[in-house]
Amino acid sequence: MLALLLCLMVDNSPAQQADDVEIDDMRFRFDGALDADLSRINQREILPWANGRFLYEFSPQVQQDAEKTEAFENACKQLLANTALKCVNRLQADALSDRDYVYVVAKGSNYSYIGRQGGKQLLSILNWNNPYKISHEIKHALGWGHEHQQPKRNQYVDILFENIPDDHKERFYINDYNNEGEYDFDSVMHYYPTDFALPAQKSIQAKSEFQSYQSMMGQRDHLSEIDLLEIQEFYGDPTVEWCGISRKPEITPISGCSYVCSLDSDPTIGNWVLEGTCNSEMEIL
Ligand SMILES: [Zn+2]
Repeated sequence: MLALLLCLMVDNSPAQQADDVEIDDMRFRFDGALDADLSRINQREILPWANGRFLYEFSPQVQQDAEKTEAFENACKQLLANTALKCVNRLQADALSDRDYVYVVAKGSNYSYIGRQGGKQLLSILNWNNPYKISHEIKHALGWGHEHQQPKRNQYVDILFENIPDDHKERFYINDYNNEGEYDFDSVMHYYPTDFALPAQKSIQAKSEFQSYQSMMGQRDHLSEIDLLEIQEFYGDPTVEWCGISRKPEITPISGCSYVCSLDSDPTIGNWVLEGTCNSEMEIL
């Protein structure tokens, strides 16, 4: 605690605040009292990374271990390989003026904040030897929650709340983070079917029509196709022009019409705007 206080005294953008909320390996900055159903946490908007850069910095302890820095950078590059977002070490990139970054530590457990927080945010790895546990934490920092908590999950799995102790039930509440796509039993963000259940019990059961997927849940030995595709969908395909922003614009320019790129004060919400008039009956998607 003393170390944390000293850290806060010398750093104007505290990486961790006293009232941060922890739910399993996910952390949230939060003001005020928690509501019982966590709705203000579970419905919050997740901020994406801006300017095409996912910035990180290693703590001195991590920096001195080349196996750790290499493992983190490999996992990051694999996640963002086909996106317009790049993994950037803020010290090497002379990006110190950019105040939003992940500070990578080895604190004895795996955890991460969800999406960009503004300022310095901690990401901790314990399992440095498993690249996909590192991927899991980085995907949290990119903006994703756990797959079994995505809004459509009740069509695919049953959460066996009767097998889950009360103090773990919050880990199974539905949330509105970036998990809106196809339900993905194979995701590196899915829980194992017995996670946080009472001994010899299950916490997650695939519905009968998806029984063959039961054994797929909770893997940490690869990224699924959807794991990668949904990051590309959100942060942009680098082969497509993205209006100078790091996430997909809401408007798809139509061939033959003229557009200008309009950036709001927040570069993550830029979008194409039709310039002048266009041919009639053009439908803007
Ligand atoms: Zn997690």
